[in-house]
Amino acid sequence: MLPHLLSLFLQIHLCWMASSSYSNSPCAACKFLRRKCLPDCIFAPYFPPEEPQKFANVHKIFGASNVSKLLNEVLPHQREDAVNSLAYEAEARMKDPVYGCVGAISVLQRQVFRLQKELDATNADLIRYACNEMPQPGRRDTHGVGFYDQNLSFWNNDPYGGDHKTGDGSNLQ
Ligand SMILES: [Zn+2]
Repeated sequence: MLPHLLSLFLQIHLCWMASSSYSNSPCAACKFLRRKCLPDCIFAPYFPPEEPQKFANVHKIFGASNVSKLLNEVLPHQREDAVNSLAYEAEARMKDPVYGCVGAISVLQRQVFRLQKELDATNADLIRYACNEMPQPGRRDTHGVGFYDQNLSFWNNDPYGGDHKTGDGSNLQ
């Protein structure tokens, strides 16, 4: 008798779990705030129940009422981006209470500045090399286009492979 009752209880429990499906569970915001999640809940599309920390962070940093107000002020198609940026900012603020995401922006700006300087220096080097070693007509790189160099070397009998000669006949003048 007892095993039968236990089995029945388990079946009822499983049915109840199946019926309280994903759609019926409150969103992370309503669960956190311990309130009923109504069909028109402003938070529900952006704070799914399986991401409780996302709302917890946003609520701690910005406050649920401010987030609700902000979501009502922006256009519906912008709300997801707004929530994602709030979540990003909130998480950064949790990790770095002093600077938040401004700290990350500052690090990236310094990195951009440093890389820009490196790029400028490299471009200056390139220009300098290009001016000092301006390729002359007839000169080719040592790889891939050896045909002309070989011909010039042969023609001029030049140990430098014709590098300092021009291939347009001006060296004959
Ligand atoms: Zn809700």
